[in-house]
Amino acid sequence: MSEKKWVYLFTEAELKQAEEYAGSWDGVRGLLGGKGANLAEMSRIGVPVPPGFTITTEACIAYQDDQSFPDGMWDQTLEALKVVEKQTEKKFGDPSNPLLVSCRSGAKMSMPGMMDTVLNIGLNDETAEGMVALTENERFVYDSYRRLIQMFGSVVLGIPDEEFEGVLERFKEEKGAESDTDLDAGDLKQLTEKFKTVVKKAKGSDFPQDPIKQLELATKAVFDSWNAKRAIDYRRRANIPDDLGTAVNIVTMVFGNMGWDSGTGVAFTRDPGTGEKKLFGDYLMNAQGEDVVAGIRNTKPIQEMKDDLPEVYEQFQEITKRLEKHYNDMQDVEFTIEKGRLWMLQTRTGKRTAKAAIKIAVDMCNEGVIDKETAVMRVEPEQVNQMLHPQFDAETIQAARDEGKSFATGVNASPGAAVGQVYFDADKAEAMAVEEGQDVIMVRPFTKPDDVHGMIASKGILTSEGGATSHAAVVARQFGVPCVVGASMMSIDADKRLMKSNSKTVKEGEWISIDGATGEAFIGKLELTAPDLEEQVELMTLLTWADEIARLQVWANADYPKDARRARTFGAKGIGLCRTEHMFFEEERLPFVQEMILNAEEAQNLINNVERLEGFLESGKLDGQTMRDESRKEVEDELVEAKKKLEDSEAVNAYYDALDKLLPSQRSDFYGLFEAMDGYPVIIRLIDPPLHEFLPSQEELLVEVTQMRTKGETKGLEEKESLLEAVNKLHESNPMMGLRGIRLGIVYPDIMRMQVRAIFEAASDAAKKGIDVKPEIMIPLTGHINELKHVQPELEAIGKKVMEEKGVNFTYKFGTMIEIPRAALTAGEIAEVAEFFSFGTNDLTQMTFGYSRDDAERNFLITYVDEGILPENPFQVLDRKGVGRLMDIAVSEGRKVRPDLEVGICGEHGGEPSSIEFCHLVGNNYVSCSPFRVPVARLAAAQAKIKND
Ligand code: PEP
Ligand code: MG
Repeated sequence: MSEKKWVYLFTEAELKQAEEYAGSWDGVRGLLGGKGANLAEMSRIGVPVPPGFTITTEACIAYQDDQSFPDGMWDQTLEALKVVEKQTEKKFGDPSNPLLVSCRSGAKMSMPGMMDTVLNIGLNDETAEGMVALTENERFVYDSYRRLIQMFGSVVLGIPDEEFEGVLERFKEEKGAESDTDLDAGDLKQLTEKFKTVVKKAKGSDFPQDPIKQLELATKAVFDSWNAKRAIDYRRRANIPDDLGTAVNIVTMVFGNMGWDSGTGVAFTRDPGTGEKKLFGDYLMNAQGEDVVAGIRNTKPIQEMKDDLPEVYEQFQEITKRLEKHYNDMQDVEFTIEKGRLWMLQTRTGKRTAKAAIKIAVDMCNEGVIDKETAVMRVEPEQVNQMLHPQFDAETIQAARDEGKSFATGVNASPGAAVGQVYFDADKAEAMAVEEGQDVIMVRPFTKPDDVHGMIASKGILTSEGGATSHAAVVARQFGVPCVVGASMMSIDADKRLMKSNSKTVKEGEWISIDGATGEAFIGKLELTAPDLEEQVELMTLLTWADEIARLQVWANADYPKDARRARTFGAKGIGLCRTEHMFFEEERLPFVQEMILNAEEAQNLINNVERLEGFLESGKLDGQTMRDESRKEVEDELVEAKKKLEDSEAVNAYYDALDKLLPSQRSDFYGLFEAMDGYPVIIRLIDPPLHEFLPSQEELLVEVTQMRTKGETKGLEEKESLLEAVNKLHESNPMMGLRGIRLGIVYPDIMRMQVRAIFEAASDAAKKGIDVKPEIMIPLTGHINELKHVQPELEAIGKKVMEEKGVNFTYKFGTMIEIPRAALTAGEIAEVAEFFSFGTNDLTQMTFGYSRDDAERNFLITYVDEGILPENPFQVLDRKGVGRLMDIAVSEGRKVRPDLEVGICGEHGGEPSSIEFCHLVGNNYVSCSPFRVPVARLAAAQAKIKND
């Protein structure tokens, strides 16, 4: 058996081998990491890439077992190094013509700045002198050497970077140098010695002079960096699996710090903030790569390279165009110019803001580069969500400026508005956001990869240094966190925990507002407004394409006409849930609702009594026996008595009075919904929650009554006491499993009767005005077919009667929610009566898991998710195995009986992408979610179809 291959050169032949082994380009990216795969690919298509090779992610995974290289890996590395020596005609460790290499991390998914890289490996006291002789540029050689010691010291040997930075700062002060470039060759040579001393002091041993040892230790450090805290934090947030590992790329060094005909930079082939089709990036002459990415030195916009090095700029433009075309996506490239010669060091799919992602996808489709399906797959549902995030409108910003609230201005690195309390370090920002639930704005001079946990937890980020491609900007854009960088007029005093700018001071914990779109920061809290979807032309286009592709429709949960109108402008094709009881909570209606509840029991007992006696007389039977004449007489007398009681009863009158008062307001709400949804179905759910929810809390009432009694207050006491009595009567130990939904419809049928009448009256009135009404009446919480048989036919009869009274006719449906496991399991029976199903997955999850939807998170569910006992919170992401299995059974059993059964979902899961995918798989007709999630759901519905069909 041949030895396992751990190392692949950037050559066509070896790339082919990798493709054969990994089976696909995705597999090659998995094996060589994104950076390695693309370096090899660039070299295959003739883009200038320095010679090098990749140690695979498989080697990284094998290394993690016992922190040692797998058998054969190091020998293969040394062999590959020999090939690179031949390709470059240089020799590693040879002072007469030394080869220097970089050792760079590179996982399958890019994790910008999260893992380690060491540059200039191969330099030691001897090779440095050799290079001085060769290049006649002592300054450059010692600048490179001191950088190697600093990077190696911090990355490989774990010495805090600040120790080197401190020495550098003090040294610059001594020399009167403002910037690194003011230091001359002699200075840098001295600095190299000082850095060696830092290493010796920290580690007790010398900086290793053996280049092979340097390479070995650097490779191990890169492997180790896969499990660094910041890399793990990043993976959690970006949903990158932990078992992918990172590859290591060993690449011949090319130098951007060899003088003023050298330089280095990063660029995007389109603007990653706005999506505009133009090169976007920064570069620095006479510098090495980390100077640009770290955002420490102020960079120049890429377009200025045209003046500095016109020919190189032209070649660069040609290469970046070629790369974008080759990969069919916006690229993020790193490059170095060594003595006028351009080298590409990396290309990858560029991270971008939500706005840019949408614009680039739509533009590229319009340019004919990608098709509609690809465009739809290029945008994450979460990015659509971000487009609907609040912003500051132009007037708010102008008013803030006029009121002198401007604090600082910088680069608009990641759009969106954020309002929060200021914290000056990542740990505190995270703690205040996560533990205290505060809205946090993290403010730093610049951010480093170690700050990523604070950045993720923050609502916004503000830095005083760095440019548009600095670490802060890249990470913020990726996670959709509004960000302003390089607000250089601002000074931060981390010790005093304050910042100053524009003659204002902001202390830690105080509120600021930042606008990532304009790059401004303001003192205090600015008001946020919801953006207008219709103005977002590209998003509208993308969502229209999504609708063309998707099989699932997207409807909305909306209780009020204004929500329905918003849902419709967001693209909803129906209302999947109107929770009628929400209307009961309105201030002017609640007294009637309470009146109805307080009298319901007494009234219903009297009504039931009359109905019972009428039943005896109608059937002629009493207790199953045929009635004799004298019994009949007795029943007739009793009935007269009962009817009289009913007529005289204050409770009955109050009960019907309250229902009569509620009817018109319900009717007008429903009318508004039909009007807003003209032509689309509107599902109106009949009353669902337990009645006590409409009354004051038992505890509060008890306290009030007790206080009144002790104080001897009599005014209003009686009412309060009877309210308390009613609340006590309605009290249930498990109200969610108690008297609610269809059970209320059976025990107190007049409430649902009133609602059905209001719906049909509203629909009839609307139909008469020419509105195309499609009412669907939904009965909640069915668990047994007999419940539905008891309730539904009678309600249907009311509907028909109203249509007759009004002289109109329209189609309608009666159906039920499926939110009790038994309903799902007996869906075949239920579909004989119900004309549609809607999964109430909030209750269905509660009942299937047996977790209270109101308390579980607080008590144990978060721990369950943190500990990995559950992969996700099942109230957010649909549990496919359990709850999903019930849904699957319900759809197939239901459709066996009623093939055209309409099936939807209206639980919270209806707006969550993975749950939407499941609804697609299970055969739903639509998903229904809150209006703001409709655009996200439209995209997710299309993606579900593309992924699965
Ligand atoms: C559900 O249970 O999923 C549902 C939509 O109903 P509610 O949340 O009103 O109980
Ligand atoms: Mg429910």
